[in-house]
Amino acid sequence: MNTTTFDLIVLGAGSGGIAGAIRAARHGARVAILEPHALGGTCVNVGCVPKKAMWLAAELAEAQQLAAELGFDNKPGVLDWPAFIARRQQYISNIHASYRKRFDEFGITLIAERGELLGNGRVRAGTQELSAAHVLIATGGHARRPDINGNEHGIDSDGFFNLRAAPRKVAVIGAGYIAVELAGVLRALGCEVHLLVRGERLLRPFDHDISEALREAMQARGIDIVFGHELDQVSQNAEGIHVHCGNGDVADGFDCLLWAVGRAPNVTGIGLDAASIALDTKGFIAVDEWQNTSAKNVYALGDVTDAAALTPVAIAAARRLMDRVFGGKADARLDYRNIPSVVFSHPPIGTIGLTEAQARAVYGDAVKIYSSRFRPMIGALAGHPERSLMKLVCAGDDERVVGIHLIGPASDEMLQGFAVAVKMGACKRDFDDTVAIHPTAAEELVLMG
Ligand SMILES: Cc1cc2nc3c(=O)[nH]c(=O)nc-3n(C[C@H](O)[C@H](O)[C@H](O)COP(=O)(O)OP(=O)(O)OC[C@H]3O[C@@H](n4cnc5c(N)ncnc54)[C@H](O)[C@@H]3O)c2cc1C
Repeated sequence: MNTTTFDLIVLGAGSGGIAGAIRAARHGARVAILEPHALGGTCVNVGCVPKKAMWLAAELAEAQQLAAELGFDNKPGVLDWPAFIARRQQYISNIHASYRKRFDEFGITLIAERGELLGNGRVRAGTQELSAAHVLIATGGHARRPDINGNEHGIDSDGFFNLRAAPRKVAVIGAGYIAVELAGVLRALGCEVHLLVRGERLLRPFDHDISEALREAMQARGIDIVFGHELDQVSQNAEGIHVHCGNGDVADGFDCLLWAVGRAPNVTGIGLDAASIALDTKGFIAVDEWQNTSAKNVYALGDVTDAAALTPVAIAAARRLMDRVFGGKADARLDYRNIPSVVFSHPPIGTIGLTEAQARAVYGDAVKIYSSRFRPMIGALAGHPERSLMKLVCAGDDERVVGIHLIGPASDEMLQGFAVAVKMGACKRDFDDTVAIHPTAAEELVLMG
């Protein structure tokens, strides 16, 4: 057998690439997957997994504080970063090992090289040339940095995961979910955090009330947030890192600056021209609703396309694509509507569907909002003023629930089940007909008047 000929070649062993390779192999396809770096891509190595580990540590830090306030005779301690990070990295190594095992199990050929398309199903992988009837591009994305003087004095989210000790004073630049998540973690773990935001709000695409509630919660935790910050340049000397603002202000004394200003797709050096693959106007690989690129039998998905940049989105798109191409399911494709997502801020956020503003733009006056603001029990016991917020966005005479927005403890675990209800087209009366579970925070979602 010519081992360089496959049914499918996958570029990138991240969330989408691995899911696609395994699903295709399950359908009997001979698969090669190319990955020059660690298995698992962004999510496993420098994204969801290490981020959630840090968030869990940060939650414990907050819980220790709360426990002391509630009468436990413990003194909140400081995290031993190197010891915790060793645990985190061991967890990640176990994931790498489980992928290798699954590749062996399904006879998937792993090639530790970058892939470059040569056209007509041919792919260069180091010194080898491979060919296949089908090619999947799942090369993901990378953190961007602003094009200003001194941008090298900061780290990005990849650099954050290389930290082996807590910084003392950090400037986080950005207002998206990575910015607020990492700022929250650093603050909970004892750092002085300044969040510098170019615009006027956090999490701009989110429901406005949720953004506002998060701002209050972050400020209450001692994070300094500067809105309307026009970053001019960054410099560094023996006293630390200095952030120069367009109006002449200088914020200084930082020992860490973290760029969280967005991500860009990995589209260079992968042979898009040779394979006649077009980009969209934003610079992502252009795909149709079936993940087809402009070249026949070449597909793309995940962060290299303009889809919601979330691991389960890449995985779901990949599985459906392979069901279509190798599994005989001609109609299989991902429905990109109503994708639930969580922000691991402090407190966490859960959101699905339309924001209030989006719903009003679509449905006009036929929108009805139900909301509940309440003090979660543990916070109330400790005398904290912080309130959770839950919001249902309903539309039409039947009050179909077209959006759910939550901020407060446990929102991260609460949303998944409610997302099923939204996906099924549930209406407000279905929520009303559901008996509450008491005493929980989740019951507020079925008790709104
Ligand atoms: C800090 C951070 C936190 C995040 N948190 C979450 C979260 O909590 N929940 C969530 O759902 N999502 C989260 N994400 C997003 C999530 O990680 C991505 O959406 C997901 O990893 C995208 O999967 P992908 O397969 O498209 O790309 P990736 O996982 O990035 O994988 C792409 C792979 O392709 C490889 N590659 C690149 N070029 C080539 C080439 N030429 N040949 C072969 N291989 C190549 C890369 O090395 C990489 O391993 C987070 C991201 C970041 C940065």
